[in-house]
Amino acid sequence: MKEILSGNEAIARGAYEAGCLAASAYPGTPSTEILENTVKYSEINSSWAPNEKVALEVVAGVSFAGGRAFAAMKHVGVNVAADPLFTLSYTGVRGGLVLVTADDPEMHSSQNEQDNRNYAKFAKVPMLEPSDSQECKDFMRLAFELSEKYDTPVMLRTTTRISHSKSVVELGERSEAPLTPGLARDAAKLVMLPGNARIRHPFVEKRMAQLSLDASNMPANRLEFRNPEIGIITSGALYQYVRELLPDASVLKLGMVHPLPSELVREFASRVNRLFVVEELDPFIEEQVRALGIKVTGKELFPLCGELTPGRIRSALVVAGVMEAIDETSATGASEGLPSRPPNMCPGCPHRGVFFALKQLKAYVTGDIGCYTLGFMPPLSAMDTCICMGASIGMATGVAKVIPEEEKKKVVAVIGDSTFLHTGINGLMDMVYNGSTATVIILDNRITAMTGRQDNPASGFTLMNEPAKRIDLPLLCRALGAGSVRVVNPFDLDETKRVIKEEMNRPETSVIITEKPCVLIKREGVFEKGDVLLVDEESCAGCRACLAIGCPAIEWRSAMSGDKKGKAFIDPFLCTGCDICRQLCKFGSIGRKI
Ligand code: SF4
Ligand code: SF4
Repeated sequence: MKEILSGNEAIARGAYEAGCLAASAYPGTPSTEILENTVKYSEINSSWAPNEKVALEVVAGVSFAGGRAFAAMKHVGVNVAADPLFTLSYTGVRGGLVLVTADDPEMHSSQNEQDNRNYAKFAKVPMLEPSDSQECKDFMRLAFELSEKYDTPVMLRTTTRISHSKSVVELGERSEAPLTPGLARDAAKLVMLPGNARIRHPFVEKRMAQLSLDASNMPANRLEFRNPEIGIITSGALYQYVRELLPDASVLKLGMVHPLPSELVREFASRVNRLFVVEELDPFIEEQVRALGIKVTGKELFPLCGELTPGRIRSALVVAGVMEAIDETSATGASEGLPSRPPNMCPGCPHRGVFFALKQLKAYVTGDIGCYTLGFMPPLSAMDTCICMGASIGMATGVAKVIPEEEKKKVVAVIGDSTFLHTGINGLMDMVYNGSTATVIILDNRITAMTGRQDNPASGFTLMNEPAKRIDLPLLCRALGAGSVRVVNPFDLDETKRVIKEEMNRPETSVIITEKPCVLIKREGVFEKGDVLLVDEESCAGCRACLAIGCPAIEWRSAMSGDKKGKAFIDPFLCTGCDICRQLCKFGSIGRKI
C-alpha cells in the first residue's frame, strides 16, 4: 500500500515498521510532528520529555533494556542532548538506538543554522541522511539495524525541506526487533567510569573504521554513473535538486554521510572529469574528499550560509560553466507581489500586556525561546537579548553582576512555562544560590505554544492526551528558594505593571508568574473566548493609543472614515475579548457590544 507522507510522518512510520518500542522528544520545528505521529501507533510508547537530554536518556534506557527506541529533536536540541550522546557512543547499545536531528538551513524557525553532520563526526557515530519520505521510512529501519550490528547509536539527519515536504511512500508491515527486553547487567559496557571508558574508546575507533570500509558497499550510498564529464557528490534534498537541474550528470548519492565511503568516493572521482560537492552549510563532505587527496569544487561556488535552493545551485553551476544561464526576468517567484507579513503574537495573546508593561517600565529584558520572543517586535519592542532555550535567567544574573547598582533593578528575565522546565529552572537555582536580585517572569500559558501546542509537565496532560500531574510552578519556585513568588493576571494591565514594578525594586530574587492560557488551546475549559470588543466610531479620538500593543485585531481606518486622523476598528472575527485595548483607551471608546 502507498501513502503520501511528510518526512516526519514517514520517520514515525519507519520506526513503527522497524519494531520500535519507545520514542521521546522535546518539540521543536521542524521535528515536532515526528512524535505527534508515533502516538498513532500503540506499539510505540511515545512521550514528550522536558528537554532533549532527558529524551535521549529515556530512550537510551530503553535500548539498554533491549528495546529499539529513538529520540527526535531539532538541530539545536542536540546541543542539549550532546552530553549523553558522546558517552553513548562509547557504551554502544543493546536494542537499536536512533537520534533524529532535524536541521534548519535558512533558519526558517531557529536561532542558528548549525550543521549537525559535525555532531556525527565529533561524537563518532554514523549518520544517515534521507532524500525523500520513502527514504525517511526505510532509513529508520536501516538505522536500527546498523545500531545493533555496529553497537552504536545512529543519527538520522533531516532538513526542513525533507521534514515537511510530502512524497509517496510504500508502506510495509511491522516486524518485531530481535531482542526481547529485560534486565541484563553488563557494567563493563554500560558504566562509563574511566577504567571502562578507556577500554571502550579503541572499540569506537575500530567501529568507525569498519563502518567506513563497509559504507562503500551499502545500498544507501548509490553511485549513478551517467557520463564522465560531470560528477556530483550530494545527499538529502539536494540530491533531488541536482537530478532535476542536471539529469545527465553522474551522481554519488550519499545515504550515509558519516563515515564517508572512501573507496566509493575514490572510484567515483576516478571516473569523472570534473567533481563537485553540492552540500548545504559546512564543507563537511568536501573537506573529507580533499583529505583523500582528490581535487574537488565545493564551497568556492556554493554558499556557506542558508538553504541551497534549486535557483542557488543553478546560479553556482552557471558560474562554473556547467549550466546555461536562464532569463531570470521570466522566472516569477511564488511569493512575488505579496505583502510581507511580519510575525506577531495572536489576538488575545496573554503575553502582550506583559511586554507593554515592561516597555513602560523601561526594563532591560533578557528573553528566551518561544512565542514571547515576539516581544522583540515593534510596537512592543521590549526584549534585549535572546540566545537559546533557558538562557534568559542566567543572562539576567550575568547582566546584573556588573552594571551600576542603580540599574540592577531594571533587569528582568522572561521565560515560558515549557522553556522554564526545559532548562530555565537551572538558571533560577543559580540566581537563588548566588543571590541575584534580578526579576524573573514566567509566562505560563499552559502549553508549548510556539511549536504548535504540545503538552509539557506544567500543562496537566501527556502526549497521549492522558491527564497527568501538573507541575505547580509557584510551589516549585518557592521550593527553589525565590524570595518572592507572585501570580498575576496578565490581562489586568494596571495590576501587571504594579506587580512588575514592585518586584523589580525588591532586593532579592523574585518570580512573577502570569497565568492565562494560550488562545489556541482547544482543550475544553482551558481557553475561553470573551465578548468581542468594538470601537465607538463617534467618540474615537484617533489618538492611536490602542495601537501600542500591536494586536492584529485592531486596524486603522483612515481612508474610510474620511477625517484626517482616522479611527481604530476591531475585527470581530479576530478579537478574543481579552480586554487589554479597552484599558488603554482614555476616551472610553472601546467597549463590549450591548
Ligand atoms: S485608544 Fe481609543 S480613542 Fe484612541 S484610537 Fe484607540 S479607540 Fe480611538
Ligand atoms: S480585546 Fe482588544 S487587544 Fe484583546 S483581542 Fe480584542 S482587539 Fe485585541
